[in-house]
Amino acid sequence: MRLIFIGPPGVGKGTQAKFLVEQFSIPQISTGDMLREHVRNQTELGIEAKTCMDAGKLVPDSVILEMIKSRFTEDDCQHGYILDGFPRTIPQAEGLDFILEGLNQKLDSVVVLEVADSIIIHRLSSRRSCRGCGRVYNLLFDPPQTAGKCNECNEELYLRDDDNPDIIQQRLSVYHEQTAPVIEHYAQQNLTKSIEAAGSIEDIKSTVMAALS
Ligand SMILES: [Zn+2]
Repeated sequence: MRLIFIGPPGVGKGTQAKFLVEQFSIPQISTGDMLREHVRNQTELGIEAKTCMDAGKLVPDSVILEMIKSRFTEDDCQHGYILDGFPRTIPQAEGLDFILEGLNQKLDSVVVLEVADSIIIHRLSSRRSCRGCGRVYNLLFDPPQTAGKCNECNEELYLRDDDNPDIIQQRLSVYHEQTAPVIEHYAQQNLTKSIEAAGSIEDIKSTVMAALS
């Protein structure tokens, strides 16, 4: 099962990906983790990437694509993988198409998790963080025992700037702008599976499984 996972922040993408990892015994490949690992291990690609980062430049797509290509040929990818956080642009998607063709692999699906912006904003802006220990609560699913106070250290809970509704809306707008062309790219190849991801974790799991079977 070779999958790409696309979804906005706050949609529960990580939880669903983890479930599929267990279900299909396939690894989740995050390009961020992969990049950090290459840099840490000082591979040829890692050194090239680090030179760019140290110079304040973006790591070129060609470097990331080479890393993905070598990752796809590792043992644990025999039964497939979930690619997360990549591709984000059309050149990256085209580069990936080229790699897959070279490896004679085909994607099974591109899973697109969709939730109305208003629901995500409501969810994320209900988070409260502790000024003392940093523990994060959610007033909707995981409220503190005493309103406004941390269970652990009794310090005050506050709304982080990142969880401010306006900031979340901005992030979502960037997300939609970036991913729309990529989703369209895969829609043209009949690979996209749109999942309405507004319900419970269990409901979304079943919808994803049904879409993939
Ligand atoms: Zn605390």
